[in-house]
Amino acid sequence: RFISFEGGEGCGKSTQARMLAEALEARGIATVLTREPGGTPGAEAIRQLLLDPTGPGWDLPAEALLFAAARADHVGRLIRPAVEEGKWVVSDRFLDSSRAYQGGEGELHDSDILALHQLGSGGYLPDMTVLVEVSPETAEQRVHARDGADRDRIGGRNAEFHARVARRFTAIADAESDRVIRIDGNGSAEEVHALVMQAIEGWLP
Ligand code: C5P
Repeated sequence: RFISFEGGEGCGKSTQARMLAEALEARGIATVLTREPGGTPGAEAIRQLLLDPTGPGWDLPAEALLFAAARADHVGRLIRPAVEEGKWVVSDRFLDSSRAYQGGEGELHDSDILALHQLGSGGYLPDMTVLVEVSPETAEQRVHARDGADRDRIGGRNAEFHARVARRFTAIADAESDRVIRIDGNGSAEEVHALVMQAIEGWLP
């Protein structure tokens, strides 16, 4: 099984991905916890290129290609082999982040991002995607509670950008509701984890 967590900055998805992976392991399910961009040595190298605050910065098409390249490596070398071995894979971000951050509303077309994903990763999709949704106020508080270096990973983004990203995530979830479930992430980590466990309960062996 392959489960991705999605959501905007400060929504708590990294915490939730980790808590789910721990809960699965505790039930005796061999689980790989991974993240995007990254997860393999090649994809982590691309992550550095994308997120280095002292780097050159990227125009949107180049940025989308780098994310797709990182994902191709991640799927080919880690996710797909692990799933084929019968493991569960939990990824902090996946394709929907590219669709939400690089796509939509005058930016790249969703169809182009899906085409890059087809080329790079054969269109590989999660069995389930958990979209963690929080209010802008909650997101802001959580981002500010992070360490300095962790706070502003890709520069030049304002509140309006993050609001647009949140709307795109919601639109993807509503259009693809057989794969994507929306979870209210405003509660405590434990409360949100309980909602996640409820959502995947039917799948547990
Ligand atoms: O999830 P995490 O905060 O580690 O993501 C790292 C950074 O990459 C974030 O700033 C996020 O906005 C950005 N990102 C992006 N486009 C993606 C995936 C992540 O801009 N497709």
